Amino acid sequence: MDSGAVAGLAIGCTISAAIIIIVCIMISRQLGYCNWFGANEKKDRRTPTPSNPAPLAPVVAPPIVHPPKKDDHRASLPVQSKPKVRKPNPLPILDVTPKPRKEISSPVDNPASDLCPKYLCKKYIRILKLASGYFNVRHDRCYCSLCYPAERTSVFTTAGSQYTVPRGWTNFGLQIDEAAFNSNRIFSKWFTTFYGTSRDDVESIIRNRFIPFSGDNLLDGSVFTRHIYDKRYILSSPSINYASLERFCPTDTVLIKHKWYDIKIVLACKQYPLGLLKQRGFKSNVCRIIPDDEIEWKTDQRATTIPYSILIRVQGHRCNQQCRSQHSSS
Ligand SMILES: [Zn+2]
Ligand SMILES: [Zn+2]
Repeated sequence: MDSGAVAGLAIGCTISAAIIIIVCIMISRQLGYCNWFGANEKKDRRTPTPSNPAPLAPVVAPPIVHPPKKDDHRASLPVQSKPKVRKPNPLPILDVTPKPRKEISSPVDNPASDLCPKYLCKKYIRILKLASGYFNVRHDRCYCSLCYPAERTSVFTTAGSQYTVPRGWTNFGLQIDEAAFNSNRIFSKWFTTFYGTSRDDVESIIRNRFIPFSGDNLLDGSVFTRHIYDKRYILSSPSINYASLERFCPTDTVLIKHKWYDIKIVLACKQYPLGLLKQRGFKSNVCRIIPDDEIEWKTDQRATTIPYSILIRVQGHRCNQQCRSQHSSS
């Protein structure tokens, strides 16, 4: 081999080596293993300036991987925190949902028609065959616990005289002689009293327009016979409790829609004040409003006790030893 060929081979090898070195450097730079040309860029990333904002992008990623504290997590990751905020929501939702259910369920489970006895009272009036002409529906009023709440007054006053609110009773207005009532100012000047009666007597009385004495001859030719002995006077009371005692107001046990009920009838009356005697009743501690020593009112004045409405009380019947066999089949 001559010297020229050796020189050419040496130059070729040198150039090849140089090319290989350059290529290796370029590859290393692409892979990031070489700092020779990137030293200034790394310095810029550590100390970012407004004039060099682009390299900030990789810095945002690390907090996503490391949520060290709850506060930091909420502040730095508002988007990721949304699903976690939903977790406490079920508690307030559970607290809220039962409230409307309670309000809705009570009237649905206990409809007014099941609590208010007015429809049962109307059925009883039909059983008694009392003609509709006796009644004035404009004065109907119910004092059951649903229609007349406990917070309302328990005592009324008329003509300066107190009488009890007939709680638990349903009031059916009667037709009255309006001319007589207006001319005598009966509603404002006469007392209000209750007169306990029975299913056998009630129609005779309301047809007669006033409470008769026992033994009186009535318009239909019959003789009024009271179920208690009060021949020459009439007993009434400003207390619905006293007037509805069994002695004056016998219970009528009636089957309505396959169920037995205990029913009582009391007449609400306007009573002429003069000649009235207020006395102690045959039983004490019957009423917490009207005193015992003036709970029974007595009059011997004819046509001075005028009924203006029928009060009916319906209660579920509970059998005792005597009546069980009679009411067992319903
Ligand atoms: Zn009612
Ligand atoms: Zn019974």
